[in-house]
Amino acid sequence: MAKSINPANGETIADYPEHSNADIEQALASADDAFRSWRRTRFAERTALLLRAADLLDERRDRLAEIATREMGKRLAEARAEVEKCAAGCRFYAENAEKFLADEVREGPAGRNFVAYRPLGPVLAVMPWNFPFWQVFRFAAPAIMAGNVGLLKHASNVSHCALEIEKIFTDAGAPHGVFQTLIIPSSKVETIIDDARVKAATLTGSEPAGRAVAAQAGRQLKPVVLELGGSDPFIVMPSADLAKAAEVGVKARMQNNGQSCIAAKRFIVHADVYDDYLERFRTRVDAMTVGDPMSDKTDMGPLATSKIRDELAEQISKSVAMGARLVSGGSVVEGKGNFYQPTIIADIPAEAPAYREELFGPCAIFFKVDSIDAAIDLANDSDFGLGSSAWTNEPAEQERFARELEAGGTYINRMTASDQRLPFGGIKNSGFGRELSHEGIREFVNVKTVTID
Ligand code: NDP
Repeated sequence: MAKSINPANGETIADYPEHSNADIEQALASADDAFRSWRRTRFAERTALLLRAADLLDERRDRLAEIATREMGKRLAEARAEVEKCAAGCRFYAENAEKFLADEVREGPAGRNFVAYRPLGPVLAVMPWNFPFWQVFRFAAPAIMAGNVGLLKHASNVSHCALEIEKIFTDAGAPHGVFQTLIIPSSKVETIIDDARVKAATLTGSEPAGRAVAAQAGRQLKPVVLELGGSDPFIVMPSADLAKAAEVGVKARMQNNGQSCIAAKRFIVHADVYDDYLERFRTRVDAMTVGDPMSDKTDMGPLATSKIRDELAEQISKSVAMGARLVSGGSVVEGKGNFYQPTIIADIPAEAPAYREELFGPCAIFFKVDSIDAAIDLANDSDFGLGSSAWTNEPAEQERFARELEAGGTYINRMTASDQRLPFGGIKNSGFGRELSHEGIREFVNVKTVTID
């Protein structure tokens, strides 16, 4: 059984029966079958499917948002925005996929030479609970537009979301097998990757899960895209607009109850503005209301599972025991639900867990630096390299951050956020491959050379 538990009160919402081995075999056969005809469909047909899916997302927005909030605790307003983002992602690929995958005429040895982008087949997507709709649509919209078909193994705590996604594609008219949800534990992933009918895999989630899936895919020589954790820097230099950097910084750290791979996690602040910036940040954090994620008066809901909350609490208490200074928060909220206070810690020793590990919850960590070189060195002293944000109005500093921060993206005077028009992904232990934009749709295609005399 896959259990859905409401993280705001600890009550079991539902138990979802897992698919059996026979069900998995049936799904693989359906995916294989569906691919044989789906790969031959015209873009117009795929576009029509994705546009209908987008309309259904819009129509069902409020209900889908409530399902996500109940299963993983994000604030309802954020859940609604997530569903809207999925609709926008579907429309983006509906409108642009044909252009992204158009044949490219090249110079070559034959009379006619071109590159064609052909689909690969069924792709397995192993997805996390933190953006239970967006992470899936970010994969599914380009994959389906490219002529692939999708098999979803969603996180075990968001099975209702997973089944609703399948229903959206079915109700939008997708032929059977084009998109299927499997309710299975992670221990079943290996046999699916091993199956010859599955041609590629993608995983968004933790580093250990990413390593496991990459190793399995590697053994089978199957392409894989990994979007793993991050410990993104958020750098504030003296020329920055401090009021805006504080407002956006708190949002970048605390949104989604602090559980975002691209959350700003390490605040690296120049000494000239450190006290001022920290005070502005602290004032905002201390004013946050923790509580029911269904209420629009709440700023911070619960962590998605008690395990996530307990791990965060331990990382913070260990770091404080090792010498980090607690500026704000720092405690579990007693009572029902997986609540943790919005927290700030500073002066983190290099050996403390908060220095090197990802903190997947509402805790900002602060560092003081006295130069741009020190800021860049500290920012790059991380095993992760997903996003990065730097706040400065000096063009020369902007240029250095843009070129020298080791991350999949650098956002100057903005928070890191994915946008379907731009590629998204990481380097180092944050994974490899790119999602979104034309880079994303070209991950799961055969870049095929054709020469015709
Ligand atoms: P996991 O990485 O464990 O889960 C993500 C997905 O991977 C789930 O579908 C999970 O299935 C599956 N999975 C887990 N282990 C394996 C495996 N060995 N082989 C194949 N699939 C696997 O994330 P958690 O929910 O446990 O969160 C732990 C940490 O992961 C967080 O603290 C955070 O650091 C990071 N994380 C990062 C995210 C991101 O957006 N990059 C999103 C979520 C988490 P199942 O649920 O059945 O275990």
